[in-house]
Amino acid sequence: MADLFAQRVNGHAPAAVPAEVQVVMTDEALFADGDTPAWVTGHGPIPAQLAKRWLAMPETDVFLRRVFARPGDHQLVGMESRRRAFPASLRRMVVLRDDTCRTPYCDGRIQDIDHATPYRNGGPTSWQNASGLCAGCNQIKENTGWTHQTTPEHLSVITPTGHRYAKNTGPVLEGIPPDKQEPPEEEPRPKVRASTPCFAKTTQRTLTLRLAA
Ligand SMILES: [Zn+2]
Repeated sequence: MADLFAQRVNGHAPAAVPAEVQVVMTDEALFADGDTPAWVTGHGPIPAQLAKRWLAMPETDVFLRRVFARPGDHQLVGMESRRRAFPASLRRMVVLRDDTCRTPYCDGRIQDIDHATPYRNGGPTSWQNASGLCAGCNQIKENTGWTHQTTPEHLSVITPTGHRYAKNTGPVLEGIPPDKQEPPEEEPRPKVRASTPCFAKTTQRTLTLRLAA
């Protein structure tokens, strides 16, 4: 009603208000002929073909974020973005995880979320490639000869002289008693290989569609 009133008074149609819609779909549905229904966050399933038609709309800005689901129960366990900037939710998670500047010999306040493998070198905007650093350490890392190698559990800093300094990620909350040990079972469980990656399988992708309404 307000839009109609403005149009009658001014003679102009009101400017479109952008809206953001998050859609999750499998990579098979996005890039091939998979027909697993897509999921609109907070709404429910829609046919994969309809989601792909949305993507093709010329007034739609599309931002891809790859999300990782655990094999088996498909619970969400990680996210990465094609954008260079870390999404706000991921930034908060990294600050929570690293607590202070992640450089082994620095406890400065986290001011930057850094791509350990630089974005310009193909480093993803992801939980796995993120480090919380103070501004000084982030600036030093940009100089020639400095390398950061990271996982969510660990950061190694290699200096131009070849020295390596390492720091492990601490628990999110100190002082929690260790989990109770399960009683031994009669049938030993098959051992999971230590090298089995937790994020072994990519099963879903998130598309963020910004629609000009
Ligand atoms: Zn620092």
